[in-house]
Formats: sequence, C-alpha cells, structure tokens
Amino acid sequence: MKSEYNYKCSLCGHEYDTQEIIYTCPRDSGNLDVILDYSNIREALSPDQIKKSREPSIWRYLALLPIGEPIGAGTPLHSVGWTPVYSPDSLSEKLDLRDLFIKDESPNPTASFKDRASAVVVAKAIEIGKEVVVTASTGNAGAALAGMAAAVSQKAVIMAPKNAPPAKIAQLLIYNAQVILVDGRYDDAFDLSIQASQEFGWYCRNTGFNPFTAEGKKTAAFEIWEWFENHKNTSVKNMEELAVFVSVGDGNIISGIHKGFKDLLALDWIETPPRIFGVQAAGSAAIANAFNQKSEQIQPVSADTIADSISVDMPRDGVRAVRAASQTNGSYITVEDNEIIRAIKDLGEAGIFAEPAGAASFAGLKIALKSGLVDRSTPVLVINTGSGLKDINAARKAVPQPLIIQPTLEDLKKAVN
Ligand SMILES: *Cc1c(COP(=O)(O)O)cnc(C)c1O
Ligand SMILES: [Zn+2]
Repeated sequence: MKSEYNYKCSLCGHEYDTQEIIYTCPRDSGNLDVILDYSNIREALSPDQIKKSREPSIWRYLALLPIGEPIGAGTPLHSVGWTPVYSPDSLSEKLDLRDLFIKDESPNPTASFKDRASAVVVAKAIEIGKEVVVTASTGNAGAALAGMAAAVSQKAVIMAPKNAPPAKIAQLLIYNAQVILVDGRYDDAFDLSIQASQEFGWYCRNTGFNPFTAEGKKTAAFEIWEWFENHKNTSVKNMEELAVFVSVGDGNIISGIHKGFKDLLALDWIETPPRIFGVQAAGSAAIANAFNQKSEQIQPVSADTIADSISVDMPRDGVRAVRAASQTNGSYITVEDNEIIRAIKDLGEAGIFAEPAGAASFAGLKIALKSGLVDRSTPVLVINTGSGLKDINAARKAVPQPLIIQPTLEDLKKAVN
C-alpha cells in the first residue's frame, strides 16, 4: 500500500502537498503536521491486522507512516522501537503509586528514543533519492542518524556542540559519520546545519524542522496503545485512564507522541488519548514556562542543565509541545539537576539505567505525585528516553565512590560490615 499524505501547518493551518521538499511552513515557519489519508487507512486496515504483525520494530506500523516501502531488512533499522514496557513493583511501592509502567528506550540500536525519528528520515531520504543527510544534535539525534544511515550505507553529516558527552561523540565517529564539532551551542549547530543543507543540497533531519521526525517518534504512542491492548489484565482499560510522562527539550518527542495518539483518534481506534505530561529541566524550561503562562509564545532561555539531551535555548517544536499537554489535560513539570541525578539512582535500583534526560521524566513524576498534580491511583507510564551508558560522568554523580581494599579476607570483612 502506497501511503498518501499532506502537510498541514500547525500555526496557520495552510496545507501543502508533498511533491517538493519543504521543512517548515513557508509563510510563518510553523512546524508541519503530516496528515494521512485516514479514511483510506481505516478501510484497508484493522487494529487486529497490526496486532498480528510479526515485525518487532516500528515498521509494523508502516501503513500508518508516510513511507512507501520498508527499507533496511536485515539491518539495525529493523530493531528500532518495539521497546519493552516494565512494571517494577519496587518503584511503584516506593512512590505509593498503584500502577507504574516504564517504557525503556535504551534497547534501541543506538540506545536512545531518537532512532525512531532517524530510521524514518533515512527511509525518506532513500525514497526521495538524497545521498547525504545532515543533522544538528546534542548527541543522540546525531548518533541515531549516523547509526541508521550506516546501516543502509547512507552518508551522514553530524554537527554537535564540542562539549557533547564523549560517549555520544564516539558513537558518531564509530558509525562513520562526518562529524563537525561546533565551537558553540546546540542552537548554533542547528542554524549552521540548515545553511549547510541549503548550500550543499543535503537532506536535513533537524529535530522540529523536518516533518518526519515526529512521524517516527509517534510510533512510541502506537506501541503504548498496542501494549495495553495486549495486556488487558492491567488497570488501563482505555488510553484516557493513563498518564504518560516524557522529558522535553526541543519538544519533538512529546509532539510526536501526541501525534501518534491523534492518528489513533482519527482512525477511531481509541476514544480519548492519555494525559501527556512534559518534564523539563528547571534550567532549560522554555516550553514549561509558556505552558504555565497559558501561552503558545515560546521565549528562549539560556539553558543550563546536566541533562544535555534536553538542554535547549530555543525549542524548535515548542508550540506543538505545549499543545501535547494542554489538549490532553496534561501538564508541564520542571525538575532540578539534583532531582534528575536522584532519579537516575531510583531507576538504577530497579535495573534500568537512564541518562540524565531519560531520568528527568521519572523525577517529574515524583514531583507531580507530591504536588497532587497526579493522583496515586492513576496508572502512569514513564518513558526512559536514553541509556545511562551515554553519559557516565553524570551517572557517577548519582552514587558514591566504590571502596578499594587490599585483596585480603580481613579487609573484605571490614568493607562488608
Ligand atoms: C532528544 C532527547 C529528549 C528530548 O526530546 P525533544 O524532542 O528534544 O524534546 C529526551 N531524552 C533524550 C535521551 C533525548 O535524546
Ligand atoms: Zn503556516
């Protein structure tokens, strides 16, 4: 089935066809929503057909993606997504929460949520015959693009701030991308990569710029829906009962997740989306600020947080990110760096290793419970967006130094007592 779709500007509502490559609305630079042919899909496809799919990746939703042909069979592109959902009793008991689910994105091929977006953008680049794909990144988007591009022998150019965590830079290099470290901030790399794509004709993956990143990210919403469809023994009988917590930087993950639930609504496969809660670092809270002022005007901040993946001065998908919470009866929460570090340890004690941005969502849940924003009888799903191995220095801040002893039983006895 060939997918048909249009673009619709999230600000002015103008629709564009998809013959030409456009990224944002030519009139007002608004983010473009991809509008699928829902009545066609509804006729051609049932939820049961999807549930019967044996494809253990985002490509099980190909009919709901604006991509014609699946690519990359037999490569890591086909292990993107379909990530596990855990229900750790130790954590729900600690929080005195009735039902806690954690969707862990660290098993993705490059160890973060960003693979979902990069896989779809790489597929699109191949479909439209673009040889080089470029992105600006705080690290994970670049690693994901580099890894997905390498999997199908595409060329990737990645621009990252020179102070990105070393593990992320190592990933870029190992995946054979052309790596340009910018002596500046993420926002500087962002602007430069757009100029580069215009100058050299490269396809630009930038988050909150390329309309297909949110399309890739929406697959997480499909997976959440399908998981609860397949686990009818939980307290979540309908999506509306659930509260979803996700960390927010540019606002593209939360917008993508919202889009996924909106697609399911448009198909009549759900009645109401879950409530969506965005969590930002207090030092990088441009979207939370706008939400709290009941505004869609995003004012830039001077971002400063240990959670590098959500450290953003001017969010590129801010308006849709505000709406993800406001249109679902959700909210925004800000968390301090010490709360993020504490949350890394909390998750670790349940066997889940998160990078700071990944743990921010759990830190936000703790605050939402304390303040009564979310009731303890509400089933909650928290997304860990990235692996703790991405940022070892931050992880080491969450725990004491290990003991060093002489290799004698005597010293060992002292140590274990
Ligand atoms: C990119 C990223 C986020 C935030 O996603 P946005 O689309 O920028 O809001 C959160 N966590 C991790 C690990 C990320 O890499
Ligand atoms: Zn517009």
